Amino acid sequence: MQDSQDLTTRLIHHPYTPPPGFAAPQPGVFKASTVIFPNVAALRSREWKDKSGYTYGLHGTPTTFTLEERLCTLEGGLHCLLVPSGLAAISTVGLALLQPGDEVLIPDNAYGPNKEFARGELARLGVGHRLYDPLDAADLAAQITPATRLAWLEAPGSVSMEFPDLPALVRICRAHGVCCALDNTWGAGLAFAPFDLLRDGGSLGADISIHALTKYPSGGGDVLMGSIVTRDAALHQRLQRTHMHLGLGVGANDAEAVLRALPSLALRYRAHDVAARTLARWLAQQSQVVQVLHPALPGAPGHEHWRALCAGASGAAQDATKEVATSADPGLAAGLFSIIFDARYRAEQVDAFCDALRLFKIGYSWGGPISLVVPYELAAMRSRPAPQLRTGHLVRFSVGLEAVADLQRDLQQALTQALPPL
Ligand SMILES: *Cc1c(COP(=O)(O)O)cnc(C)c1O
Repeated sequence: MQDSQDLTTRLIHHPYTPPPGFAAPQPGVFKASTVIFPNVAALRSREWKDKSGYTYGLHGTPTTFTLEERLCTLEGGLHCLLVPSGLAAISTVGLALLQPGDEVLIPDNAYGPNKEFARGELARLGVGHRLYDPLDAADLAAQITPATRLAWLEAPGSVSMEFPDLPALVRICRAHGVCCALDNTWGAGLAFAPFDLLRDGGSLGADISIHALTKYPSGGGDVLMGSIVTRDAALHQRLQRTHMHLGLGVGANDAEAVLRALPSLALRYRAHDVAARTLARWLAQQSQVVQVLHPALPGAPGHEHWRALCAGASGAAQDATKEVATSADPGLAAGLFSIIFDARYRAEQVDAFCDALRLFKIGYSWGGPISLVVPYELAAMRSRPAPQLRTGHLVRFSVGLEAVADLQRDLQQALTQALPPL
C-alpha cells in the first residue's frame, strides 16, 4: 500500500507511532545526552550501532530516528546518518572511505568546498584527487586509476549548472568497482530518485546520496544540517563508525524544524521550480544576457540529460506535476539557475545590478522563501576548459517563494538601472 502512494503523500502519512495515550500525528521533540538504563544488564546488552534501543543522545533519539527514517523515504534509501551541515556530509564520506594512497574523483563544477576539502584535509592525509569534466563520461573513465576508491557526482553542478549523464557516470564507476557518492542537494529526492536512476526499481543508482538539508528540506533558511543515505548496510556501517568517531550529531530542535518542513517539500519545490523557469525564460530574452544556465531550458548544457532523468517520468514526485502538464511532462527542477551577462559589461556594472535588486537579497545558500543572488568569478572556479559556457559575467539566482511578477519587475528595474542595453 505504502509503496504505491505518491511520495508527497508518504512524506505526510508516515508510520510514526505516538506515545500511548497521546494520539497526535506530529512526532515529539526528544532531547537527551544521557539515556537512563533500567539496570546494568540493559546497559551491557544495548548496541549503539543499530536502532533496537537507545544508548546515548549522540547515537540517536526518537526525534533523530524519525527524521532519518523520513529521509530514507524521501531518497529511496535504507540507512541514514544526520550531520551538522551538508559540507559535513561530504567530509564524513571522504574520511570514512579514503586512506593514504587512494584517489577521489570530483567533477570540475562541484560545490566548491568539496574540492577545497580534497585539496586540504584529504591531501594532508595522503589522498589524491582528480577533477573530471562532468559532461564527458569518457573523461571520467580515463581518470580512473587502480587507486580510485570514490567518485563524487553532482547533478547539476553548483553555479554553472551543467547536468551530467548520471546513469552513464554511475555505469562507468560500477564497471571499475568505484563507489559513487552523489551530492543530491539540487534534486532534493524529488527531481529524480538517486538510487533508481532508470526507474526500474533500482538496477542502477548511486551508492551514497548526500543532501544539504539546509536547503529545501529545511526550507526556512534557518537550519544547517546534512544527511548521508545509503542502501548498503556494510557501507552504512563504515560511514557510521567514522560519524561516531568524529562525534557528529544534530540538535533535536533543528531536527524537528526539518521534520515540520518535509510535508510541504514537494509543494515548495514545485513552486520554486515554476517561478525559476518563468524568470529564466524571461531573462533569456533580455539583450544583456548571453546565456541562461538552467538545466530544464532547451540549449542549456546537459539539458538532454536532465530531460532523460527528470522529465517524462512516472515516478512518485512527478505525479504532482500532472495536473498542470498538457501533453509532455514538464519534469522537475530546483529553483536555482545562473545567467551570463555579456562580457562587454564591466564587472562593476554587474555588481551594481546585484546591488540594485531589492527583493533578491545578496547571499549564499538557497532553498528558503527569500530569493537570493550571487555574482561568481567563473574563471577562478574551474581547473579545466568549459567550452559549454559563454564568456562573460556569471550571476546565480535562487528563486524564493515571492510572487513571480514582483521578482520579474525587480530584475527589470535592476537591469534598467545598472546594465543599459549595449
Ligand atoms: C549548500 C550546499 C552544500 C553544503 O551545505 P551546508 O549545509 O551549507 O554545508 C553541499 N552541496 C551543495 C550542492 C550545496 O548547495
